[in-house]
Amino acid sequence: MNVLSTANEIRRAIQNAKSSGKIVGLVPTMGALHHGHVSLVRQALDLCDVVVVSVFVNPTQFNEQQDYQNYPRNLDADMEMLRDAGCHVAFVPDFKEVYPEPDNTHYDFGQLETVYEGAHRPGHFRGVAMVVRRFFEVIQPDKAFFGLKDYQQVLVIKDLVKQFNLNVSIEPVTTIRENDGLAMSSRNRLLSARQREQATIIYRVLKEVRKKAKNTDIADLTAWAQQEINQHSELKLEYLGIAEPNSLTPIENLRESPHAVALIAVWAGNTRLIDNLQLF
Ligand code: AMP
Repeated sequence: MNVLSTANEIRRAIQNAKSSGKIVGLVPTMGALHHGHVSLVRQALDLCDVVVVSVFVNPTQFNEQQDYQNYPRNLDADMEMLRDAGCHVAFVPDFKEVYPEPDNTHYDFGQLETVYEGAHRPGHFRGVAMVVRRFFEVIQPDKAFFGLKDYQQVLVIKDLVKQFNLNVSIEPVTTIRENDGLAMSSRNRLLSARQREQATIIYRVLKEVRKKAKNTDIADLTAWAQQEINQHSELKLEYLGIAEPNSLTPIENLRESPHAVALIAVWAGNTRLIDNLQLF
């Protein structure tokens, strides 16, 4: 595996690969890698000749400085994991390689950035858009892989690609879970044993919401979910939203909705966890 840290190095390496007709896949990550990330790498290896994984904790997408500082980092373990997974190129840039100058582009994702994650993390998707656009510009991947664990992010990235006419195909990848159902996340390693144990309720609630969905009013469903989550001493529900899967328009009446996705954010102490489930 080639480990590169400058934009010029990676540009050169990829141009070489592309000029010999190779399909290039990109998996953007913030490191502290787990099996969810590896699943993205595997999918990329299946569909591409050259797989690049970027590891960069992107400060512009953190709406709280403390969260940025506390974000888990473990570059040595990440490199080992990527080598084992068969990744070809790890791109590990520092801040000035990613942001050689400020990005003053006006990004507008309409409703996608005003609901759920957008509402609770002001500026988050703008930061995501900046870093992803920069990586696309430097690496010029044919395909880029994103986890459905960050459901709203996938929709924002698809919109970004459309708005800026970017020549890359976005490949969403299913959420990988621990055996007890908790969605894998770098932030899980910040949980205490007690928080980790209680966090299993998140996926159980989502599955129960799916079961009850067609026969229960949304207000009753959310009230029930809030009670289920908040009765755990370490947890606090931030939101449970039920929305149309492409626009994320909140749904008012599930009985008349052909498709719906449930999106959830829960605080476990100071750690924020998100998950989602396609209801139908
Ligand atoms: P992150 O390092 O958290 O920014 O995540 C990098 C990529 O991995 C994003 O596209 C995430 O959606 C994806 N990802 C994170 N956790 C999981 C998971 N449990 N299953 C599948 N993909 C994931």
